Amino acid sequence: MFEKSHVLIIEDEIKTVNFMSMALRAKDYKVTSAQTGQAGILSFCTNNPDIILLDLGLPDMDGMKIIEEVRKVSNIPIMVVSGRKIESDIISALDAGANDYMTKPFGMGELLARVRVMERYITKENITKPNSIMQFGDLTIDTERRRIYVDNNDVHLTPLEYKFLVLLASNPGKVITHQQISKDVWGYREKGEAKSIRVCMASLRKKINDIGSEPKYIFTEIGVGYRFTDK
Ligand code: CA
Repeated sequence: MFEKSHVLIIEDEIKTVNFMSMALRAKDYKVTSAQTGQAGILSFCTNNPDIILLDLGLPDMDGMKIIEEVRKVSNIPIMVVSGRKIESDIISALDAGANDYMTKPFGMGELLARVRVMERYITKENITKPNSIMQFGDLTIDTERRRIYVDNNDVHLTPLEYKFLVLLASNPGKVITHQQISKDVWGYREKGEAKSIRVCMASLRKKINDIGSEPKYIFTEIGVGYRFTDK
């Protein structure tokens, strides 16, 4: 069996720390916790964790600052665990480099499922190289030839649709914010036209046959952005 990941929890609410630690330890994760931002950064530097679960509202500093500091030196998966349900906070955290977010309250099942997704980022970053062919169910993306196939049928995308799809598919399981999409697909520095994103997404979904009430590939994170399937 693989050795389970080492999770660093940076959170000042003792009850939440205990709940998360217990749930993770029951599944054999190694857990370290820190109740302040300073202690969290110190622990990140000295304990070499694999994953960080981070609260934004800490007594001595904003969790955003921690994301920024950690991202200067590491690609370690960071999941924000926050009581703040304000969309702009979540979006800023993702834009600053957090991989995912979870709002309180949450159950044990959700926590463990999301930590498993975080674990996939560790191995992915360490062992896989960007692949020119990406395969998700019936959808094939060949970035070398710039071709898309659904069920082996050639699908014609506009350059924007293509860029949009490749951006999402290159980050399976990760929420890509509207702002990241504007910047990477449209090239805007500031938040682009939300409507252009919606229109482009609708057309893209139609072409790759990802329509209906249960999408196969692209999931909408309401008010935040989109998440591509990680299967
Ligand atoms: Ca807090």
